[in-house]
Amino acid sequence: MTDRKAQLAGNLAKVEERITAACVAAGRKREEVTLIVVTKTYPADDVRILSELGVRHVAENRDQDAAPKAAACSDLPLSWHFVGQLQTNKVRSVVGYANVVQSVDRARLVTALSKEAVRQEREVGCLIQVALDAAEPVAGSGGRGERGGVEPGGIEELGEIVARAPGLRLDGLMTVAPLTGPYAGRELAAFERLMDLSTDLRRAHPAANMVSAGMSADLEQAVAAGATHVRVGTAVLGVRPRLG
Ligand SMILES: *Cc1c(COP(=O)(O)O)cnc(C)c1O
Repeated sequence: MTDRKAQLAGNLAKVEERITAACVAAGRKREEVTLIVVTKTYPADDVRILSELGVRHVAENRDQDAAPKAAACSDLPLSWHFVGQLQTNKVRSVVGYANVVQSVDRARLVTALSKEAVRQEREVGCLIQVALDAAEPVAGSGGRGERGGVEPGGIEELGEIVARAPGLRLDGLMTVAPLTGPYAGRELAAFERLMDLSTDLRRAHPAANMVSAGMSADLEQAVAAGATHVRVGTAVLGVRPRLG
């Protein structure tokens, strides 16, 4: 085994232990939680090693980095998740490799994704990214959070738009624990709020049962709240050399 493979295997084992322990503590089955490894800023070689180690879901947040990586790894049995803020001019590229876009937060983006999915004859899973950083809709923000995401009051309408869009599948909700606002420093409360919003969404869309929450620092709180997917970067790959 190469040094890097041994290192990633060790890190994955630790993350696996944490997820398992969190499931036990929450009285949940391990199979209820899917690990997505966030490979942003790390090379395609690492993605290949992760695949060899049994990882099946990877996530990226920038199309410029993700597109060549996904192309270099197209022979691997991986699901690609896009988790970054997405500009409509990148949609054509992203639809070419992403199985799931977790950062859907506005109608214009849905229209663009749908058009491309139909054109490329692909089905793209969509999670609505929820911004929990604003207690009330911020004037002038169009109801969107600082790091993307729609405020909770906008979920129902956007969910309908996704559900009706050809080529798209409404899969559920995603959030990032907010750094500001009423949930700052209260990850468990934030993720519990996301679960409540998921319960509301599933009344109209029972199949939209994915709840993506929790990163390296707060995956335990996400599992405790009921998340179905955790997105872990640093704890598997190491501290990123630059912001990404
Ligand atoms: C980078 C990133 C993660 C992973 O964060 P870590 O702290 O490295 O585990 C998860 N979700 C999103 C949206 C990200 O951009």
